[in-house]
Amino acid sequence: EREQALATADHPAVTTDGRVVPVMANVGSVQDARDARGADGSGLVRTEVLFGDRRTAPTTAEQAEVFRKIAAAFEGKPITIRTWDIGGDKPLPFLPQAAEANPFLGERGLRVFRHRPELLRDQLQAVREVALETPVQVMFPMVTTAEEVAWGIEILDALGPQPAGLKVGIMVEVPAAALRIDSLALGLDFVSIGTNDLTQYTTAADRTNTAVAALADGLDPAVLLLIDHVVRHVPTGVHVAVCGDLASDPSAAALLVGLGVHELSAVGPQIPLVKARIRRISFEYARHTAAEALTQSSAADVRYLLGAVS
Ligand code: PEP
Ligand code: MG
Repeated sequence: EREQALATADHPAVTTDGRVVPVMANVGSVQDARDARGADGSGLVRTEVLFGDRRTAPTTAEQAEVFRKIAAAFEGKPITIRTWDIGGDKPLPFLPQAAEANPFLGERGLRVFRHRPELLRDQLQAVREVALETPVQVMFPMVTTAEEVAWGIEILDALGPQPAGLKVGIMVEVPAAALRIDSLALGLDFVSIGTNDLTQYTTAADRTNTAVAALADGLDPAVLLLIDHVVRHVPTGVHVAVCGDLASDPSAAALLVGLGVHELSAVGPQIPLVKARIRRISFEYARHTAAEALTQSSAADVRYLLGAVS
């Protein structure tokens, strides 16, 4: 099955009834980008991983150089650069943070930059430079309110007129953001659902704590209901992607397509398998399965449903 999937990796992922689903790659290094067979671009560049070994903050020029290499690996297909997503389980040596009692509920992602805007500005400048040459999407992580989104966009807009090749979006990984997607996503080009954190915050189960790993299950119907809410309430024309790990599981990926998600982003080795699965299902059938999944009472029941139909 893997061999068959690899042989067709470069073919588009289209359901049997014609729905095209771009399958992008999650990358944390230039090598990840070069290794991503069959990807339609990158749906998530984790910049805090890309520069995670730096003792000092990379300059705008240094960041732009690495972004260019990633864009080159995808041969002009779009890349989605996520602004620094630090805090929680991801410290950065050049941005020391005060100890917090609950780091996952503390200064994470975009929140960190409210008092360090210059670091965000430098990064956004690098994004803008590369967007003049190749299609780039930029997204802000860990946003909760429309005010935070407006603040991030204000920092971006203050750098000058938006390059034609630049699209702007947010990650949806906080339940409050999912529930208010109608106002948070107003005026954006896209949103990308981070199921890893969305699951953690929906189930109140630390994604790094193995003792509660069974609770932190992305197939929990509560998580699926939030994804369904996002797809239904996102402003017209705003593209919905999923870049959390749920999109790397072929069965779950088919379910996400059925929920109406437009685009997926998976870890490199899973891309051919996810694409192969999408080519085997009809959108109609996926929609039916997704509707059924939303009525289940546990992640185990959803998994059983997916197993029975795949
Ligand atoms: C997520 O939360 O699902 C996500 C894609 O971001 P990260 O795993 O880097 O927090
Ligand atoms: Mg996240």
